[in-house]
Amino acid sequence: MTMKNYTFSAPAEQTDRDEAARQKAFLERARRDVDDLAARLGRRPTCHINTFGCQMNAKDSEKLLGILLAAGYEETESEDADLVLFNTCTVRDNADQRVFGRLGRISHYKKKNPAMKIGICGCMMQEPSNVERIRKSYPYVDLIFGTHNLFRFAEYLCEVLESDKRIVELWNATDRIVEDLPSDRKYPYKAGVNITFGCNNFCTYCIVPYVRGRERSRRPGEILEEVRTLVSQGVKEIMLLGQNVNSYGRDLGDDITFARLLKACAEVEGVRLVRFMTPHPKDFSDEVLTVIADHPNISRHIHLPLQSGSTRVLKKMNRRYTKEQYIALAEKIRKAVPDASITTDIIVGFPTETHEDVDDTIDVVRRVGFDNAFTFIYSMRRGTPAATWEQIPEEIKKAEFQRVLTVVQETARKQAERLKGKILPGMVEEVNSQTEGYVTARLSCNMIVHIPGDASMIGRIFNIRLDRCCGFYYFGEAVGEI
Ligand code: SF4
Repeated sequence: MTMKNYTFSAPAEQTDRDEAARQKAFLERARRDVDDLAARLGRRPTCHINTFGCQMNAKDSEKLLGILLAAGYEETESEDADLVLFNTCTVRDNADQRVFGRLGRISHYKKKNPAMKIGICGCMMQEPSNVERIRKSYPYVDLIFGTHNLFRFAEYLCEVLESDKRIVELWNATDRIVEDLPSDRKYPYKAGVNITFGCNNFCTYCIVPYVRGRERSRRPGEILEEVRTLVSQGVKEIMLLGQNVNSYGRDLGDDITFARLLKACAEVEGVRLVRFMTPHPKDFSDEVLTVIADHPNISRHIHLPLQSGSTRVLKKMNRRYTKEQYIALAEKIRKAVPDASITTDIIVGFPTETHEDVDDTIDVVRRVGFDNAFTFIYSMRRGTPAATWEQIPEEIKKAEFQRVLTVVQETARKQAERLKGKILPGMVEEVNSQTEGYVTARLSCNMIVHIPGDASMIGRIFNIRLDRCCGFYYFGEAVGEI
């Protein structure tokens, strides 16, 4: 199938430029506040962000850190800082507990340093019960805000620095997208780019649509502008981010689709690799596959969350595809892009799941031959429909999980072996902390390879020979830079 060229609209009114200008004015004010604080302390104030959860949160933390650094803070690895921010995740109940534990432990730093400010934001704060708990039991928390008003952080920072009052601001929703504020990218050579915010799918186990709100797509012109800017700054690899990237553009009332956006991003001059996360199987179009097949600089890695192989359980999960449809899609992917790896997420122990349902999941794992799978034991998430259903006993969940895991590991090992002896391009990401004299690279198909080298190779792309398969990663050697 060939694709028609698509003309992208120039950045339009979607971005709230007045709000961006307002926040920049607050940032100027925060700079003066931080300078005053530095004068009182006799040193530059320090900040630390604790990030929990997914890549969307990691991306949000880059924005928060960008504001803090622009305001004059210095980043530190330690929680013994002048400002500590918790960017929280609420996908699992135990993530909530970890946050409360960490929050409790840092109170002694504040006793030592009364000027210290503590803030908490992110998905957990979109749940009133969590906010209430912090209000009551953590009186030393100075700032609470949620996911929808994160772009107002510069404003809240001023308020926190200029008063001793606790600032709490939570919004239920927003249709605003505020861009062009500072962001501190974690890696100079790769960057995430948001394409959608929120989710409309309401899978019955998932809290995301409640805490991140309805799906909103950014305008393609703005996304492309960001990609071009990143490339001009030396970024080689772009990760397009959204809860369901395949439904990108549906809310724009335009002719734009994810396939067209993906194509346009891959064709930006200088982009070496485009990844995307996460596609929903129900919305995966043939057009996307054609674009991937036609563009070698689109990642040969498709993460396609299965969740369950049982059509009955999938229905209860509100996933809106059947076992057969999922397998047919995976076969189509293997045919259209034979060098792509397919990875997945699987939940075991979902309410009402039977031994036979798990057999179905195992059947899908075998038939698709996943290159890797993140397998989770279902954990009840308060506030979701599935949390109100009868739960499977823990020991059954654990036994079924083990059955799935064994097959997942078998399959992944077999798939990894297929790469042995091949020479494939990969970007060096970091110095290997386990094996001296080695660095770690990631291939387009997401396989990790350890190769001899040093820090000067970070961010560079090499042809890598895959010599020794160690299950889920390789040892190999660079045979030339590309
Ligand atoms: S697609 Fe389903 S699992 Fe993914 S974020 Fe949306 S509701 Fe949650």
